[in-house]
Amino acid sequence: MGIALRGLFGRMERMSLNARKKRAADAAKAAGVDALLVTHLPDVRWLCGFTGSSAALVLLCAAGRRARTAKRAVLFTDGRYIAQANAEAVGTEAVIATKPPLTEACEWIASAGVKRCGFDPAQTTLAALDNMRKAVPAKLRRSLFVAVDPLVAKLRQIKDAGEIASLRAAALLGCRLFDHILTFIQPGMTEMAVAAELEHAARLAGAEGMSFETIIASGVRSALPHGHATQARLPRRGFVTMDFGVLLDGYCSDMTRTIHMGRATTSERNAYDAVLDAQESGLAAVRAGVVTGDVDEAARSVLRRAGLADWFTHSTGHSLGLEIHEDPRLAAKRTEKLKAGMIVTIEPGIYMPGRFGLRIEDTVLVTRSGCEILTPSPKAWIEL
Ligand code: ZN
Ligand code: ZN
Repeated sequence: MGIALRGLFGRMERMSLNARKKRAADAAKAAGVDALLVTHLPDVRWLCGFTGSSAALVLLCAAGRRARTAKRAVLFTDGRYIAQANAEAVGTEAVIATKPPLTEACEWIASAGVKRCGFDPAQTTLAALDNMRKAVPAKLRRSLFVAVDPLVAKLRQIKDAGEIASLRAAALLGCRLFDHILTFIQPGMTEMAVAAELEHAARLAGAEGMSFETIIASGVRSALPHGHATQARLPRRGFVTMDFGVLLDGYCSDMTRTIHMGRATTSERNAYDAVLDAQESGLAAVRAGVVTGDVDEAARSVLRRAGLADWFTHSTGHSLGLEIHEDPRLAAKRTEKLKAGMIVTIEPGIYMPGRFGLRIEDTVLVTRSGCEILTPSPKAWIEL
């Protein structure tokens, strides 16, 4: 990439980070606090670009409505991250803490005259809250830190253009890996050998890692919804469920395909057709404005009609982004509404202990009129 182009990307990146900090600070202000303490690392990364493993980010809310960014954004990290913080957290002041970064962040919040500082209770342990309180003068201990809704997680639900591009690239890499593994897989090889080949190819293709532990569940093990690869050998006849994802540019991919080794029984074939029907019915229900519980029902009702709903023991899908499981979830009776720009999975499956199981999963971008499938690998029956 040319230097001029890199400069342009840097500028766009900084603008989107500033916009995110501003929106988080505004949401904090609307929640009645004058600062926000962010410690969940994916939230920190999303707000200021910093990818290190030790961080506490403080946003001071701006006084005026017309302010273009948060009044101040200060990132506290430790000595290992001096160069990285300056390179990544553009537009954010970086402080290299000599005490634990959380302690120093809290001392700074108190000395900056903040009266009420919001924190995310879903991401703060009791021990951390205790440390936060101990770091500030006794008279502020009871009043300074206020639990607020997970504001940043909420903002992260809608992906911007750059995030969608990253998620699209990650999903497409997942599809290429699936094509590759189809040429590799043989009866008698271990599930671990399949996982190793997949992960090796992912790394060579530029993935930073896998977005979760690779699931290769074959034969009777396919009845385990989360059957991580073991030393079990792929059968001559039976299902192989492969659920895997890469991390690319910090963003996760997630897809599942189930193939059959050798000739299937009628009940295996019928089960596959029913799950595929359910998956397509779930996909067809996705659209901005639709309630997540209704998407779950669209998939689940197909399996109910096929007499298989008792074996569909998990929810239909989840959101993903910097993390593999984000809100909103697509589960029975959930009432959140899908919005354009959300990225969700549709992944019904059935699991019959001692017999077999299977799952089919796509990742999709929610749009106003429906959805765009980001994982267009074939789903038609594959018998190897
Ligand atoms: Zn998955
Ligand atoms: Zn998933």
